[in-house]
Amino acid sequence: MAPDDKETAIALRVMKFGGSSVADAEKIRTVARRIADAKESGDDVVAVVSARGKTTDGLVADAMEISARPDPREMDMLLSTGERISCALMAMALHDLGHEAESFTGSQAGIFTDAQHTKAHILEMQPHRLEESLKAGRIVLVAGFQGMSKEDKNVTTLGRGGSDTTAVALASALNASVCEIHSDVVGVFTADPRIVPGAAKLARITHEEMLEMAAMGSKVLALRAVEFARNHDVRLHARSTFLPVEGTWIIKETPDMEQAIVSGIAHRSDEAKITVTGVRDQPGIAAAIFTALADALINVDTIIQNIGIHGHADLSFTVPLVELTPARDALESVRGTLQFDDVITDDQIGKVTLVGAGMKSNPGVAAKMFRVLAAEGINIQMIDTSTIRISVVIDRRDVERSVRALHDAFDLTSEAARRANV
Ligand code: ASP
Ligand code: MG
Repeated sequence: MAPDDKETAIALRVMKFGGSSVADAEKIRTVARRIADAKESGDDVVAVVSARGKTTDGLVADAMEISARPDPREMDMLLSTGERISCALMAMALHDLGHEAESFTGSQAGIFTDAQHTKAHILEMQPHRLEESLKAGRIVLVAGFQGMSKEDKNVTTLGRGGSDTTAVALASALNASVCEIHSDVVGVFTADPRIVPGAAKLARITHEEMLEMAAMGSKVLALRAVEFARNHDVRLHARSTFLPVEGTWIIKETPDMEQAIVSGIAHRSDEAKITVTGVRDQPGIAAAIFTALADALINVDTIIQNIGIHGHADLSFTVPLVELTPARDALESVRGTLQFDDVITDDQIGKVTLVGAGMKSNPGVAAKMFRVLAAEGINIQMIDTSTIRISVVIDRRDVERSVRALHDAFDLTSEAARRANV
């Protein structure tokens, strides 16, 4: 690229604004001002907006009022409207600030997905119209959370929280220098500040760590968006809509990066535990059980099977609380064939997770975590690890106490401050 080629030298920023950032007219005008500032500083801007406030929840409720089993295709026609509203209103606000701005639906933006309505995956990006609009000097606005199925050309949505994914996919396809995710929190914290008042904002975190944090309960960024950012090497900046301060950078791990042993603690209280007892201890049984669950689109996590005794074993795993009934149904449907003894469920569990890239090279983190929980008299029901994560399943009532005790024991407040300064 020639250094004097002005057009390609301009930086492109993708800025995403969450639902609470555009909840009312005043907030839309505030956000429009931020977008205008970015444009006036000389950057090209593509802004992705979510549906206003609780609009999507309202649309889901509208559908449920009409039908107990709304057709998924029609559900997507309905759900996609929330983001279109925000997007058009934002364009109007920008016009009033004297800017040329143009709004686009997901399909106009060239976001092609598979046909899994209400939880579609992006297959391909063809943002030609956006490129033309940028070239013409306009601010581009894209309705988040939606696309068009590649084969049938139907409107699809990307799953709840999917506007983050729209922003990351656009940042990748348009080669943006950064994807900024704006919301009402100022970044990613060492733990939920509502539980740990001393929790600190992380200056930076790796894609891998953020993926674990999001999967294990951190709500700052949608899991699939982080996954997309990791796979396509998109630099993310999670920051506040209303405060002009640096947030948290989510970046690729580099060899010279100093790794925290524990970067943060995530927790969730929206899961349930299922134990299938008396499962025959022979090849193919686990395959059959988890195929039945997968066919019912159940998201299974943390699987534990104990050693077989007298040819039978118990199998435990966790599922999202909202999927407990369908999971039970799926298991009952294969009980006759597989002949296990029983299905025992517990809807009172919680999960607490330590995440840190430095765990890879530092032994003893699990031992310390378990000692801290033991000192609090907290019983561990299940344990699950990856190279950079340790999760425990415990009683839901013990979750907040565990998070506080672990945050304290691993001294995460001073750790975050120290790392922010290196
Ligand atoms: N409006 C959608 C939701 O509430 C998508 C999003 O906000 O990202 O899930
Ligand atoms: Mg939202």
